[in-house]
Amino acid sequence: MRLSRYFLPLLKETPADATIASHRFMLRAGMVKQDSAGIYIWLPLGHKVLKKIEQIVREEQNRAGAVEMLMPTIQSANHWKETGRYDAYGPEMLRIKDRGDRELLYGPTNEDMITDMFRSFVRSYKDLPQCLYHIQWKFRDERRPRFGVMRGREFLMKDAYSFDIDADSAKQAYYRQFMAYLNTFARLGLKAVPMRADTGPIGGDLSHEFLILAETGESEVFCHKDLVDMAAPGEVADDALEATFKERTALYARTDEMHVPEDFAKVPDDKQLSARGIEVGHIFYFGDKYSAPMKAQVTGADGKNVNIQMGSYGVGVSRLVGGIIEASHDENGIIWPKSVAPFGAGIINLKLGNEEVDAACEGIYAKLSKAGIDPLYDDKNDRGGQKFARMDLIGLPYQIVVGPRGLKNGIVEVKTRATGKRQEMSPQAAINFITAEYESEA
Ligand code: ATP
Ligand code: MG
Repeated sequence: MRLSRYFLPLLKETPADATIASHRFMLRAGMVKQDSAGIYIWLPLGHKVLKKIEQIVREEQNRAGAVEMLMPTIQSANHWKETGRYDAYGPEMLRIKDRGDRELLYGPTNEDMITDMFRSFVRSYKDLPQCLYHIQWKFRDERRPRFGVMRGREFLMKDAYSFDIDADSAKQAYYRQFMAYLNTFARLGLKAVPMRADTGPIGGDLSHEFLILAETGESEVFCHKDLVDMAAPGEVADDALEATFKERTALYARTDEMHVPEDFAKVPDDKQLSARGIEVGHIFYFGDKYSAPMKAQVTGADGKNVNIQMGSYGVGVSRLVGGIIEASHDENGIIWPKSVAPFGAGIINLKLGNEEVDAACEGIYAKLSKAGIDPLYDDKNDRGGQKFARMDLIGLPYQIVVGPRGLKNGIVEVKTRATGKRQEMSPQAAINFITAEYESEA
């Protein structure tokens, strides 16, 4: 993409209500624009990152055997009345009436709808297990929308729902999603810690929240230090799921809601970590909480009808955009992990109109594009300082700086955004270097 053709409305001033880094940088870098409280327009740069995160979430869901579908944002109140949640959910639910006075709502989550869908098709244990997911906008009329997309009212969520014949099988589904979450967050460049959680309004028996540690997080967390640097489990065979889950949840990890100070005190002093965290995912096993009132049953192998055992599994896809920035930025701007960067590299032309510089930039741009790096070429007629600041702000992992002086000696400068390291090399070497960096990631 050529910057001269792109829509990148940067802000010079930081809006006063943006108190945390991710909110500030997302506004300044032209990623989002607030339309009304907690409701955002995703501008091209923000949209690109959102879609990359979504794609990684999708790939890991697919790898875990979940099947993608899409449910509507607008739901009938009937499903919710059947489960009793229509009244229980409270003012966070946006209730709507259509022209025929029928009660609708903008979905804050989808357990009720998907249980209704599932019971209408599935009758036999032979059709189980099943795990379905979608990536869809939700609306919750939050009391205090804040921190930009981190606590929005309209937000994008991946929500998966598992359907099993019995508790053992349902727990396997839960463990599978648990592993998928660890793998997903690792690919996003995040260290997310699973913490035993309260089941809240979703209800049920077993629940974990996944939190990334950040000073600006809304939750207080208490955990064993060793959990933070644990590597992702990768692919886990079915017969190893339970053991791996136990291993991963043996150490103390709780948010303020579930915190037991006496238990935390048993963690060795030098391993106690109390910090703040951002909830980026939440998984639940809730058995027949919805299938019982909705009579979602299947006939078992013994010919008897049983309630379907269910779980649900959410990832805050749009919250993750802010969460990743909270975890990865400096005073100059965002530092994108390679996996979600909106463009693979930036090319800075320091002397637009200079024949050699223009030609070198065009050559690098063409070759990087061909290599699949998706570069952003700053071909605007601005001063160098402005270009450097802009490129640092939007946080692309690599910058290639092309100026007349270096080119005389056949060199350009490559800057790695995360480390600030600058290296001089030939244009071709710069292309090879960046391409190799992305190949080693894949
Ligand atoms: P929170 O405790 O932050 O209010 P929640 O427990 O209500 O979240 P869940 O119902 O577990 O949220 O939803 C699944 C995921 O959706 C959460 O882990 C979070 O990442 C994301 N999420 C929830 N509410 C919001 C919101 N208002 N804005 C952005 N993302 C959200
Ligand atoms: Mg939650």
